[in-house]
Formats: sequence, structure tokens, C-alpha cells
Amino acid sequence: MKEEKKTLSIVVPCYNEEEALPIFYGEATKIFKTLEEDYELILVNDGSKDKTLEIIENLAKEDKHITYLSFSRNFGKEAAMYAGICNAKGDYVGFMDADMQDPPSLLPKMLEKLKNEDFDSVATRRITRTGESKVRSWFARKFYKIINKISDADIVDGARDFRLMKRPMVDSIISMSEYNRFSKGIFGWVGFKTYWFPFENVERVAGSTKWSFFGLCKYAIDGIINFSNVPLDIASFLGMFMTVVSFFALVFIIIRKAIFGDPVDGWASTMCVIIFIGGIQLFCLGIMGQYIGKTYMEAKKRPHFIVNESNKKDIIKIK
Ligand code: UDP
Ligand code: MG
Repeated sequence: MKEEKKTLSIVVPCYNEEEALPIFYGEATKIFKTLEEDYELILVNDGSKDKTLEIIENLAKEDKHITYLSFSRNFGKEAAMYAGICNAKGDYVGFMDADMQDPPSLLPKMLEKLKNEDFDSVATRRITRTGESKVRSWFARKFYKIINKISDADIVDGARDFRLMKRPMVDSIISMSEYNRFSKGIFGWVGFKTYWFPFENVERVAGSTKWSFFGLCKYAIDGIINFSNVPLDIASFLGMFMTVVSFFALVFIIIRKAIFGDPVDGWASTMCVIIFIGGIQLFCLGIMGQYIGKTYMEAKKRPHFIVNESNKKDIIKIK
């Protein structure tokens, strides 16, 4: 008996990609056509302000493989990925960026690996960072080191979101419905056997990156807070440490006063201590605030995304 044809779903989040998307579509479709699987291309328009939606609509008119979802505003790449994966029907599901930084030419090899070997997921990591500033690369490396040390989300340095997964892994990712999503961490957290496919960094074909340096820093902090309680431990430790130190300082001052009757002098040193402790307190409050803020957002249970337009009927519009 002939095995039934499997389907591959590729999810592509698009935000202001009017220049890159047509190039991506052309290249990716060439590759899709060489595969033995059926395929669906899920384009998620994340509230683009340029002609991205128009381009997607025109492509979808011509190509039945395209499913598109268009958000009511910009919800961010994580939300777009979640909307895509929730609506993916394939036996294999993958993520790709629209800017050709995830080369479609790698797809056939990745799919072969996934089908023929005992892996649940084939992911990619870039082994070079050409075209990226030195400072940004340095911070990125440090981030991977730290997050791997302090969390159970196992993230490989240079890991991209570009990966293919089998159904069980896809379903487990869908089941993680947290509001503060950090996919790189979620992929690691759910476990499963992943094969890492190394490739040389490719620069985006057109348009510009949506990430500012500040945005990346925030993303890194979010990642750490989403997957680790170590910052809270640091706050507790600092508190305990300061208590012990100040206790001994107190004993020292009392004894000095009792024996020498020496009034404590030095306004400057007192101020330094007050400011120092005040600083640590604010720092620890800040850490706690980060967690409380996240808890607040989770508690509200707001939807991750709102789709206001699509070419298909049976899709999840709000989740
Ligand atoms: N993206 C998105 N919503 C956003 C920002 C980005 O859907 O708010 C998409 C973007 O269109 C692209 C992918 O996420 O397909 C990666 O974005 P970008 O190339 O700017 O990130 P980088 O590759 O520089 O990390
Ligand atoms: Mg990019």
C-alpha cells in the first residue's frame, strides 16, 4: 500500500517586507516544487504599514498553496509565529523569515534529515555573524552563555527560529500558550530530539531589520525572565549579604562607641552607604517588578493575536 502524501507547512511572519517578500516567495516556491510533500505557505502579515498585505493578497490569488492571516495591528514576531503554527495543518511544520536570512535552499536537506532519521526537529544555527556589528555579536554571545547557565531552556549559540518540526513537537509548542512568548526558549524547553544544522550567516536581501539594539536588549532580558528565576535569587542573595555585612558593621560601631566613646564621624561615608544600599534596593525592586509585570500580563489572559483578514474560512482568528 502506498503511503499517504505528507504535508509541509511553512510559517512566515511578515512585517513591512514589501521588498523582500516577492524575492522570498519566488525562491522558496522553486524549492517547494522540488519536494515530494504537499506544502502550504502560511504568510502572517503582522500589521505591516507598507504594501506587504497587498502583495500577499495578490500572491494568494494566484497560488492555492498560500494561506494568509493578517493581524489587526502589529503584535510582534512571536505572536505571528504563534498564529501561524496554530493554523498549520501539516505533518511537518517550519518557521522561516521573509528576508532570505533563512535560506530556502537548506529546506530539502533539513526535510530529508527529519524524515529519514530519528529526529523530532531539525533546527538551524548560524556559525558566523558576518554583517553584524562587533558589539551586537559580543552581547549576543554573552546572552546565550548566561541564559544556558541559569535556565532550563537549552539554547544553542546562533540558533535561529528557522526549523522544521514533526507534529508531536508542534502540538506541544501550541499547548504552551503563555502570553510572554520567547520561542527560542520554548523550543528548548519542550525537549524532543533536535538536529542542529550549521550554516553561514546570510544578510537580508532587502528592507531593514526590525531590531534596534535597545529592542534586542529588552528581548534578551525577557528571555531570561521567562525561563529563569535566578534574577530573583540574586535579589534575595544581595539582600541577605547586605544584612549580614550591616550587622557586623553595627556590632563594630557599638563596640567602638562603648570602648572609645568615639562618635561616628564622616557625613560623606554615611551618604555613600545610604546611596549604595538605596541603589541595591531599587535594583532588587526592579527585578521583582519585571516578574510582577509579566505575571500581570499573564493573569489578564489577553489574546496573543487578532486576525482581521484571511483567505481561508476555517482558521483560528483570535487566540
Ligand atoms: N517580524 C514580524 N513582526 C515584527 C518584527 C519582525 O513579523 O514585529 C518578522 C520580519 O518580517 C521577518 C522576521 O520577523 O520575517 C525577522 O525579522 P528581522 O529580519 O527584522 O529580524 P533579524 O533577522 O534582524 O533578527
Ligand atoms: Mg532578518
